[in-house]
Amino acid sequence: MTTSEANLKNPDNTEESSSSSSCFKKPKILIPIIVGAVVVIVVVVVLVVVLTKDDDSSESSVVDDIGDERWVEAYEKAKNFLKSFSYEEKYLLLYGEYNVAKTCVGGISPIPDRGFPGICLQDGPAGVRPSNYATTWQASINSAATFNRDLVREVGKAQGGEFKAKGVNIMLTPCINIMKHPKGGRIWESYGEDPFLVGELAAKIIEGMQSSGVMACAKHYVGNEHETYRRNSSSNIPEEALFEIYIEPFYKAIKKGDVITIMESYNAVNGTFMTRHKRLLQEVLKDKMNFKGFVMSDWWAINTDSYENFANGLDMNMPGGTKFPETMIEFASPSHSWWEALPDWVEEGLVTNERVDDAALRIIASMYKVGLIPDTYDESKAYPNGVDLQKNTITDSTLSINRKAARESFVLLQNKDNVLPLANNKKNTATYSKYAVVGNAAKKTSCETISNNVCYDSEGKRYYEGHLYIGWGSGATDINYDYISEPLEAITKKVKELGGSITSSTNLINKTNNYYEEDLDSVPSTINGADAIIVFIMASSGEDSGYVEQTPGDRLDFNMWHNGNGLVEKVLESKTATQKVIVIINAPAVVNLEWKDRVDSILFIGMPGAQSGNAIVDILFGDYSPSGHLPYVWGGFDDYSDSIAGSYVEFESKDYITANYTYLDNLFVGQRWFDKNNIAYTYPFGYGLSYSEFSFSDLSLSMSESGLSVKFTVKNTGAYKASVVPMVFLTFPEEVKNYPVRVFKGFEKKELDVDASSDITIIVDAHDLSYYSVNNNDFVRPKTGKYKVYVGIDAKDYNKLEGEIDANY
Ligand code: BGC
Repeated sequence: MTTSEANLKNPDNTEESSSSSSCFKKPKILIPIIVGAVVVIVVVVVLVVVLTKDDDSSESSVVDDIGDERWVEAYEKAKNFLKSFSYEEKYLLLYGEYNVAKTCVGGISPIPDRGFPGICLQDGPAGVRPSNYATTWQASINSAATFNRDLVREVGKAQGGEFKAKGVNIMLTPCINIMKHPKGGRIWESYGEDPFLVGELAAKIIEGMQSSGVMACAKHYVGNEHETYRRNSSSNIPEEALFEIYIEPFYKAIKKGDVITIMESYNAVNGTFMTRHKRLLQEVLKDKMNFKGFVMSDWWAINTDSYENFANGLDMNMPGGTKFPETMIEFASPSHSWWEALPDWVEEGLVTNERVDDAALRIIASMYKVGLIPDTYDESKAYPNGVDLQKNTITDSTLSINRKAARESFVLLQNKDNVLPLANNKKNTATYSKYAVVGNAAKKTSCETISNNVCYDSEGKRYYEGHLYIGWGSGATDINYDYISEPLEAITKKVKELGGSITSSTNLINKTNNYYEEDLDSVPSTINGADAIIVFIMASSGEDSGYVEQTPGDRLDFNMWHNGNGLVEKVLESKTATQKVIVIINAPAVVNLEWKDRVDSILFIGMPGAQSGNAIVDILFGDYSPSGHLPYVWGGFDDYSDSIAGSYVEFESKDYITANYTYLDNLFVGQRWFDKNNIAYTYPFGYGLSYSEFSFSDLSLSMSESGLSVKFTVKNTGAYKASVVPMVFLTFPEEVKNYPVRVFKGFEKKELDVDASSDITIIVDAHDLSYYSVNNNDFVRPKTGKYKVYVGIDAKDYNKLEGEIDANY
């Protein structure tokens, strides 16, 4: 058995590699034997530089070493820009202020004398927060369910455009943590359980965002898969999983997405807080992965005065030091500010001037990357004057991209006897004439006080009411209900257009003790006489910021909120034999479906954002075929791998790990865990029905240094124009031991007319053909044995086509 190092090209295939190389290594260091040749080249280059550039050009030697051509120009400019900065001024670039201008959640003040315009940082990911005049986008987990790279890029570009228009410089998104368990409160802010999918989509959304002239921020690096104890826990992750599962999306964000900033996470990894994790920040992220942008802390994540945070690779402390607002004092006191001691630490030799130079250079180069350092300082455009979060950036275009992404993200889970679609759009006639809609999630909220997408009752208790456009926390927007498409309204309009009639009941009953329930009593009369009953049910989750109803952030179970399951049961018990029941699930991810076999259709809509109602109509009434797929396996709450040990101590010590999450599942996250342990699940990763059908044929495989090419033909054999998502799964060669039986390594989305077919080629590149070898401390591409290659439509129906190919090439 030979395990040779992975031969990994850079992602955009610009750099051919002629010998084995690590995906984490900088471009090759020239070996002594060719030193002579190098000397000649250097002399020539120096001559060219001297002859063609102005006097400052001798300073550009640093940039020749940076090893990433995408950053050369920005570093060159940044170096020049910083020439006049004193160290005192450089320190000012490194620490933030919290919401000083009551606009940005973090900010760096301008230094007018030096032409530095300051920086505004603002959340993400669902849109610009907090702002009533920004599009409320679909949750990232919905974007993931589209399995559509181009669309995700388009979403990123449009989102970036909104941040840019409001004067935000860094959008604190995307969140690319892994959905280790669907109970994670913030899973909707990210892209699901699979590292390949998360990484591919991260690259695309970042590419789109940054093309609008803002810096994206990949967060939270790394191991932040839970909300509970997020500030005081250690994620204890085996080495191979750390790289292959949890760091992998950040690797793709850097290599393919060229992400400019990264936010480290609150938690510790293997016992060391991420704010000062020298190995993962400096050695892995910056040295090995050659990340050229800068790393900021999560908000108030620095829980110690230690100089180590800065010395070990953190570049920017957010949101600030002595400027902590009173309300946040529990998280960090003014004394917990490392930057103000920076000059002393430099003096004492604990922090080097080079580290300060490096951090400042990274920040300024990052700004140059997206054109944020102006030629001339203009106070009116500098932070905070240049920021206007209330500027209206909701346009027909943002709403239509949101609508497209939302409908492409809906996953049809069940469709007995093709009950859906409810109308044949070609004939423009409805299948049924009488409809009933039940469930509070069908309508917009009517609660009066809403913040971060949570309602507050008169006692200040938090609850949720109405359709769930997005979850709660820093990832939410302030929804502007003027621009919201309400499902009930949109369905009513469509039914009327089609000549039908509709009844509805959507009230919640406010039971005692902050507990709300669906009004079951109205169900029998509402559904009486309807041909089709559309039932809306919901559950939510969010950031660890206090309870919303019974949920602290992470979900405690997979039950629907407000007795949603009771509502479905009530419909089933009240209906006649011929009435059809369609359930619409409005939730972050997996929920319990005790009634699954007794309803006709189930459409999972996740959290669709502003255009939810219109997007639901697009699918329900057949204007489009569903094409969303689950970016996770759908199992029972106790069936996912999960483990926690330790107990939580309130902030007695800010430097204390009081809980340990042990990632026992190692590489076997999500679907892989279910496969390995033979655990039954309801729906596999990738699952999603269509109104049409597809056939697959003509698989051909070829292996080369740059990767595996998988070619095949897919045909729409059904009656609807529809999109198909062929998925490539690989079984790795035998030399790779203790590995998942199959791993997801490729996909493409293709829209096909009825009877149309398409030849598709999916390339699995050299990095994706590799596994992380703990012995080699690096990714390794197998060279012996064979890969089994499958093309299918989900992790269960994975082998519509299959073949084998030698690992060697
Ligand atoms: C969250 C980050 C967010 C930041 C600023 C933190 O609590 O973890 O995701 O960007 O706050 O709002």
